[in-house]
Amino acid sequence: MAETDKNFKFQIKNFVPSGHLPQGDKLKIRGFCRFILDILFPPQCVSCGKKFETHTERVICEQCFALIPTRSGFMCLICGRRVPQFGEVCHREACFILAAATDYKNPQARETLHALKYGHIRSAAEPISEILAYYVAELILHHGLPTENTIIVPIPIHKSRLRTRGYNQSLLISELLQLKLRNELRVAPDALMRVRPTKSQTELKNYDEREKNVSGSFTVRNAESIAGKTVLLFDDVYTSGATMREAARELKRARARRVVGLVFAKA
Ligand SMILES: [Zn+2]
Ligand SMILES: [Zn+2]
Repeated sequence: MAETDKNFKFQIKNFVPSGHLPQGDKLKIRGFCRFILDILFPPQCVSCGKKFETHTERVICEQCFALIPTRSGFMCLICGRRVPQFGEVCHREACFILAAATDYKNPQARETLHALKYGHIRSAAEPISEILAYYVAELILHHGLPTENTIIVPIPIHKSRLRTRGYNQSLLISELLQLKLRNELRVAPDALMRVRPTKSQTELKNYDEREKNVSGSFTVRNAESIAGKTVLLFDDVYTSGATMREAARELKRARARRVVGLVFAKA
């Protein structure tokens, strides 16, 4: 392994997002609330249920975290073939290339993601972004992903869903990913906008329904921020791909140079 690789991995491993820590009184109040909550509901691993010692933001234990596999390289979304190098074309009609950090089949990956999306545990974004940072760093170091003129665009959620969930998990993960990659890639949080609410894609089983559900649901808010760029379009999970195809088409319309569909887990 080259010396620069090792340094990069070491930096990623030891990065602590200090900007996220609250200060002063806020810290005291929060600390007290946490103390009470920890007594009532001791924190435990979302996967194996192992109890943690109190005062931790951890959601998954080290042993379970180590069981989440990391993929390498890209994938053609038409035929599913692994594409090792960025820029290599497998199927020309694909409007983006897929980059999936791990598999949705993996129970530890799935449980961590569920904690974030349905369990309202924000700190679950931490291990997810950790896996992604390692995966994206590998794409940069060994699979030709350029960092220049490359931006991360999280899939937006409609403001009605933002109100009920309280946060956009894709934006949360993207921001942590930027920090862990030491600002090597930047997030453009408002580049894409959701113009109308859609049903959850998981409720729709057939292809046509899913396509129709998301059709015309995105618009590019700031075309200048997209034109000529390589866009890492980020979503937490890839299933039928309908959402990502729709968003990617909009980005292409705004003259994105290349679109990479970056996801934490592929179903
Ligand atoms: Zn565990
Ligand atoms: Zn292909």
